[in-house]
Amino acid sequence: MNILVTGGAGFIGSAVCRLLVGQSQHRIVNLDKLTYAGNLASLSSIGNAPNYRFVEGDIGDQAKVLDLLKAEKIDIVMNLAAESHVDRSIDGPAAFIETNVSGTFRLLAAALDYWRGLPAAAKDRFRFHHVSTDEVFGDLPFDEGVFTEETPYAPSSPYSASKAASDHLVRAWHHTYGLPAVLSNCSNNYGPFHFPEKLIPLAILNALHGRKIPVYGRGRNVRDWLYVDDHARALEAVALKGVPGESYNIGARSERTNLQVVERICDLLDVKRPRASGSHRDLLEFVTDRPGHDRRYAIDPAKAERELGWTAQEDFESGLGKTIDWYLANEWWWRPILDRRYAGERLGLMGAG
Ligand code: NAD
Repeated sequence: MNILVTGGAGFIGSAVCRLLVGQSQHRIVNLDKLTYAGNLASLSSIGNAPNYRFVEGDIGDQAKVLDLLKAEKIDIVMNLAAESHVDRSIDGPAAFIETNVSGTFRLLAAALDYWRGLPAAAKDRFRFHHVSTDEVFGDLPFDEGVFTEETPYAPSSPYSASKAASDHLVRAWHHTYGLPAVLSNCSNNYGPFHFPEKLIPLAILNALHGRKIPVYGRGRNVRDWLYVDDHARALEAVALKGVPGESYNIGARSERTNLQVVERICDLLDVKRPRASGSHRDLLEFVTDRPGHDRRYAIDPAKAERELGWTAQEDFESGLGKTIDWYLANEWWWRPILDRRYAGERLGLMGAG
């Protein structure tokens, strides 16, 4: 298959590119705008693979996307390009509306134009896979069930509202124009190559630097964690086997409070990289809660397991250990990011998750 991955220089997109480029039956074109979150270093293991091409560009550039779809004879679009950090969406929502809503609209418009012009066999084969989040379902009470594909949308943050809007556009393009589109909604990811503004890499790197580890509120908010390579395999399954018009929830039944996550990181680091004195837990610092902070997200992945034959393989304990080992061994990847973005800036007080 000829697959266009958008946002392939990001955290999850780069995991998808690394997975799919390793399968010689696919040809991968990675379209990425290289925002602050895009990092070609995350793709260095791909090297000069003959079935991979990087194109710098914006999903909102409809004419460029259409040309690319035609020139590369694309069979599947996997849309991972997005602004993805909740705290940034609170400070500056405009970029989220621009990329997540308008950008998805432009990408859909280009895809529809392209799809309509395809010969019958290629038209049947074509898929538009939109990658989304469980945050569109909104705030889940601590003692109340899990999100299913039927859970109504109730986004709380500018980020989740922009993702919900894009999901609705994708569904509308399927229902109204017949575009063969599939959707997936995934829980919180963690793993290697995660930009150090998100909870887990932030906690690891702050701990390594002996800096305070900020925890919102009392750390009671619950997230459902999935190892990024498990998500990449799930996305492959959705893109190749998903039924147009359907959506699939992706998760690992791995709920943890934010406090449990950061305490576990501290305990693992106490063993892997002990401090000169004291425990890494001494660095934990409770900070003013994020406005509108959803209490809990929890995903039921039963449909994806049943219909796509996918299951998460990494349990949280081993995945977290592997992630910490990766950050310990790969300073070449994160050092330039810290030097570039956070010198004298907000390292240590960036948002937690
Ligand atoms: P990320 O922020 O790490 O990467 C986003 C990538 O998109 C970057 O490489 C960036 O340069 C690129 N990009 C941004 N705007 C663009 C534009 N206009 N045109 C082209 N490229 C653009 O994000 P991520 O964590 O890898 O998330 C990828 C997708 O998965 C997003 O849609 C996100 O909503 C979704 N998601 C993320 C998580 C998570 O825990 N990280 C969970 C569920 C769903």
